[in-house]
Parts: sequence; C-alpha cells; structure tokens
Amino acid sequence: MPVGGLTTRGPRNLLRQIREAMAGASPAQDRLDTVVRIIAQSMVAEVCSIYLRRASGDLELFATQGLKPEAVHKTRLRPGEGLVGEVARSAAPISLSDAPSHPSFSYRPETGEDPYHAFLGAPLLRGGRAIGVLVVQNRSERRYDEEEVEDIQTIAMVLAETVASGELLGQEELRDIEVAPHRPERLKGQAFAEGLAYGHVVLHEAPVPPENLLAENQQVEEIRLREALIGLKANIDAMLEGGQGKLAGQSFEVLETYRMFADDRGWNRSLEEAVRTGLTAEAAVDRVRNEHRARFAKARDPYIKERLHDFEDLANRLLRVLAGDSPGERDLPPDSILVARNLGPADLLEYPRHKIRGLLLEEGSAASHAAIVARALQIPCVGRLMGLRDRLSEGDLVIVDGETGEAYLRPRPDMLSAVQSRMEVRSHRQAEFAKLRDTPAITADGQRITLHTNAGLAVDLENLDATGAEGIGLFRTEFQFMVSEELPRLDSQTALYKLVLDTAGTRPVTFRTLDIGGDKVLPYLETTEREENPALGRRAIRLGLDRPGLLRLQLRALLTAAAGRELRVMFPMIATVDEFRAARELVDVECAWAKRRGRELPALLRVGAMIECPSLLWHLDALLPLTDFVSIGTNDLFQYMFAADRTNPLVSDRYDPMSPPALRALAEIQRKCADTGTPVSVCGELAGRPLEAFALLTLGFTRLSAPAGGVGPVKRMILSADLAAARRGMANLLGSSSASIRGELETLARKLNVAI
Ligand code: PEP
Ligand code: MG
Repeated sequence: MPVGGLTTRGPRNLLRQIREAMAGASPAQDRLDTVVRIIAQSMVAEVCSIYLRRASGDLELFATQGLKPEAVHKTRLRPGEGLVGEVARSAAPISLSDAPSHPSFSYRPETGEDPYHAFLGAPLLRGGRAIGVLVVQNRSERRYDEEEVEDIQTIAMVLAETVASGELLGQEELRDIEVAPHRPERLKGQAFAEGLAYGHVVLHEAPVPPENLLAENQQVEEIRLREALIGLKANIDAMLEGGQGKLAGQSFEVLETYRMFADDRGWNRSLEEAVRTGLTAEAAVDRVRNEHRARFAKARDPYIKERLHDFEDLANRLLRVLAGDSPGERDLPPDSILVARNLGPADLLEYPRHKIRGLLLEEGSAASHAAIVARALQIPCVGRLMGLRDRLSEGDLVIVDGETGEAYLRPRPDMLSAVQSRMEVRSHRQAEFAKLRDTPAITADGQRITLHTNAGLAVDLENLDATGAEGIGLFRTEFQFMVSEELPRLDSQTALYKLVLDTAGTRPVTFRTLDIGGDKVLPYLETTEREENPALGRRAIRLGLDRPGLLRLQLRALLTAAAGRELRVMFPMIATVDEFRAARELVDVECAWAKRRGRELPALLRVGAMIECPSLLWHLDALLPLTDFVSIGTNDLFQYMFAADRTNPLVSDRYDPMSPPALRALAEIQRKCADTGTPVSVCGELAGRPLEAFALLTLGFTRLSAPAGGVGPVKRMILSADLAAARRGMANLLGSSSASIRGELETLARKLNVAI
C-alpha cells in the first residue's frame, strides 16, 4: 500500500467503520477517539484530528490520534488562525508537504506537532459552511495525491453530517457547537419586494439527510446517478420543447444553457468519482456542489459567479430527480419562505406560487432576476442578508419584512404577533384598494387622472387586471434581457411584445427600449471593459446608438408585434436632442424596412423620450416639438440632479425628492409640456407613493404610471383630493428654502383630508 493511501480505492470500508464506531453505545468522546484512530490507520497517517467550531467561531480540538491527548479541548484556534483556521475560513481542503514552512502555520507547543511535516485538512461542510476541520498529518514531507484529497473530503462530509445530526455527540456536548443556530436573530438586508410574510424555511439548496450519505451498494448508486442524469436532461429537454413563454418567452435560452451544463464532462466525471468513493448519489451531488461553491466563492467576476449559480441550480434539479420529484414539484409546506443564496431567472417561477409566502436571499440586488420576478409575483422579498444560509435550517420559522428590509430568524412570539397585526392592517388596506379597482381615477374636484402601471415581465400582466390600472405607462423591456442567459432573439422579443399588447387589449402600452449597460451588465453582451462610473456610463440609449443593430432588432420586434394597432415607444436616458433625433431615425429606418417588405405597420405610432437627464430641462423647447410624448423617470432624474447614486445605500437617501429644487424641476417640465401640448407622464417610483403622487397632481400632472403595488393607494389618494385648494398651498411651499418640504406637504394633505 502506498504511503498514506487507503487500502482499497475509495474510503468505503472506512466510512462503514466510522458509522459502526459512531453507532456504538460508549461515551461520545470514546467514539470520537475511535473515529480518529481508524481514519489515521486507514490513511496511514501518524496524526488524525477533528476540530469543531464553537459558537464563538473558535475551532477546538475535539479528538486526536497522534497529537498529545492533553491538548484535546484545550487547543483552540481563532477563525482564520493557523492552517486549520485557514481550511475553515476558505471552506476548501489544504494539502501541504511541509506545513511548518507555510506562512499560516501556527505552532502550538501543547499539541507536540513539531515533527509532522505533511498536512492534509478538509473542512466539515454543512450547506457550504465549515462547522469543523478534519486533519491528517505525516512525519515525512510527502505529497497527498488527488485521490487522498478526494477521500478526506468524503470522510469530512460524512463526519459533518453525523456531528450535525447529533449522532456522534450528544446534545450536551453539542450545546455550544455551531451546527444549527437556534437563537432568535434579526438580519438587516435590503427590501427587494415589499410586503410582509412569515412561515417556515424551505432551503432552495436542500441538504441531503445524513442517513442517506453512505452507499449500501456502490453499483446501485452508480446506476441511480446515471439514470438521474439522463432524467435531468430529459426534463430540461421537455421544458425546452414545451415550456416556452412561461418566463416572458425566455426560459428557452436559460434552459438551453442548462442543457449544455448538464452535458459538461467535468461535472459528470466529478459526480461519478464521488459515488465511487462510497457515497450515495445524493451525497455525491452534495459533495460536488460544496466543492464548486468553495472554488467559485472566491471569484469576484460576476460571470464566474453566474456559472457557479448554474451548477448549483443543476445540482438542485438533480437532487429533485433523485428524490423522485420532477423539478418544480417539490413538496412544500403551505407557508414556505424560500431561502437561497441567490436565485436564477427561472427558479422562482418553478415553485408553486400559492405556497411561497416570502423570499429571503443572501445575495442578489434589487435589480436582480429574482427580485424582479418576486415583485412581479408580489412575493415579499428581502435580499443582501449576510450569512443568512449559515444561520438557518430547513423548517425554521422566519419573518420576511419587505417594508424595512429585515429578516427575523426564529422570532419570539411577541415579535411574531407584532408582525401578524401589521399584516392584518395591510390586508385590510389591500381589500379597500381592490374595491376601487373599477372606479375611475377622478379627483374630488372632478379632474380626470390617467393612472397606469409599470411592468416588465409576462407575469406582470396579471397585475394589470388586478390593480385596475388603465394601461402600462412603462414597460421595461430590458427585464426580458436580464432574465435571459443569452440575447433574446427577434422572435422571442416579438412574442413577448405581442403577448403584452394582446393582454392589454384596448389599454395603451408604452414600451421603453432597452435600458441596459452601466451596472446592468448582460454577461452575453460584449461591451467594452468595465466602467468607473456605471451610472454615468454607456447606458440605455447610449448603448443603443452605439450598437444600432441591437436597437433596430428591438424596434423591428416592436413594429412587428404592433402591426395594425397602436405602438407607443420611448427611449431612456436621452441627454441631448441629437440622441433623440438619431433614435427616432432608427424607428423611421425600421418602418421603411418593413414597408419595403410589404409588412403591415402599426396603425398608430407614437415616439417619446424619457426625461431622466437634467440637461434636457434647458432644452425642452428643442426637444418637445420632436416628440409625441415624454415621460419623466424621476428615479434617474433625481439621482443625476442630486449627484447621488440610486443604487448606493450610503447616498441614495441623502436628498428628498419632496424638495423645492426637485419639485420646481418637475413643475418646469409640466409647464413646458402644457405650453406645447405634449402629453407628459411621471413613471418613476415616486408616482406610486400617495404623498409624492399628491405633490405631482398639485403641480399639474394628470398622467402617472406607478408600480403595481402603488396603483391602489394612489387611486385612493386621487379620489379624495381637491386639487384646486391643494395647488395654492403647493405654490407657497415651492418658495421654501428648506431641503425638504415633506412635513409641510403632509400637513397640507391632512388639512385637505387627502388620503395619503
Ligand atoms: C426612472 O429612472 O425613473 C425610470 C422609470 O426608469 P428606471 O427606474 O427603469 O431606470
Ligand atoms: Mg430610468
């Protein structure tokens, strides 16, 4: 037998011995001592030690064969300290032929480890988190080969699951070991989709149950794995054939990518290899997933991170196939709160909507795929919750607070009842809004207001009926691109726009051309290198004009979809009149192209500009005559006016749009539009907030486009508002020297009994 190698390929016999040792009736410490002894023997190592992580984060030596016994429960390493700490921190194995010469080596005299040179450590991973470290050491300066590194990871995995399940150590010994957090905790993140929910955790990356780790029969497991892989591919193929249109027609590209990854040789080989070390098919999938996580976790490149994501997603699907469920048919409790590191474009849509009450994400951003879909489905969602997955177990009770951007893990009863009463108030209010659905939006003094909604995905269309919005004032076409893994083709763009127009029927829809670039990077779109200031970079129409092929393709899809009916299209981020001219010219070029081919054109074509760049404020006289309508994107207009990045939490709240400069700018645009008879609407987020929308009405705006959740509250405000009186009050407030007139505005609204 080679030095340090296992007697037979794969640690199957060893794993069996470990399980037998663990099942014994002797005290936990004796059993642990037996475990390290048999690992040392089997791996022909002079030392084998197990370190477990205490709640403090320290790694404590729990059992050793070869180091001094008196060091057990005495030697403790802080997170990141020494090689053991480094293994835990990086959640990846470390193999060294001469450990003492490594910069991370930390000498502990009480252990007597000076004579040992070779070091091989593997993390005890649970859900991608290190709960301990397994180490073998040899006196000689030897190199552990790939198989040994592989084997120790398998052993570490089995140990991790048995420690965590309480099989190895009793509850008493486990009390302070960080295997499964049990205290109430509050995590602060970012609200991605508003609303409140509570329920039980369902982990998107479901763990493999510990009793299901070791293979009874390796050949059977190999066959199970092979068949599951075939099943997985068949599932993806079936979805490729039948599932189009589900996600704005885009799951097709996503699934094509998954199909490609499912065929990935490296992935398939790692899975087979892991089964050969004695694991069940499920455990093999889990192990390979953990390795991928550890490897990719350090990558900064968003493209590489996305690839990790694809593999994670595939691993989850494969586990579901192995469990006998077809993907998307997982048995969920009716009050599920889905918890994931991040979610891919199609993931959320595959869960049964009525069972998912909320969504918690460790990563992501408000503009991420999952957040967009969550908002469209009106599922409360909080993201950017650091360490979330480490602090939760399947089945834990959690609260999703999409109002404050917080998550309460295992909340105390008083916290839960506080949230329940907030939810009651909310649902009462929602019912009130629903009653207003078919009531026209007319102010108390008879002013007709056009109230539209913002949308971006096919699933948003459901909201159109539910909210009673009179049309779509802003259809963000880039969402289709963002939830797609590759550039949506002409036919899928056309299909989506057609679906939108068909669903909207007689209700008008304003399509906004692609607003990508800057921080909305599409991995498949080769643009130039990363930009220093993405918000001020080559975004939206700038990219569209630089890549006219892209914009023309989109315009062609829009023109085709709207053949014989009205098409309203507007361009984002217009900063100069020339940009609008150039963009509009492309529309003409596409119309001429369609005409030459004898294609039917839209019955009515309206081309507009978004006012999002302050520069336009001083050139409206030149711009307005060229446009059929304009729409004010206040989210961007104010970020540029106040020089405060809207995506940066450090600065995004520093100014208040309810301030004289912001409101005066809006008033100016409104006045110029009225003078030239140019229809103008406001489609930024603030149009969906009653107080802000009230301010807009007092400035003379009569067209608003609000996020779906804002339509009801804004309509209620409209019905209660007497604008004639409010306008006089507002005129005075605009003269204020304060940075915010929010308080005064509230007072005014209350005095006039406006429902804000
Ligand atoms: C805006 O900027 O206000 C707007 C509506 O566009 P987006 O939020 O998509 O940038
Ligand atoms: Mg914008």
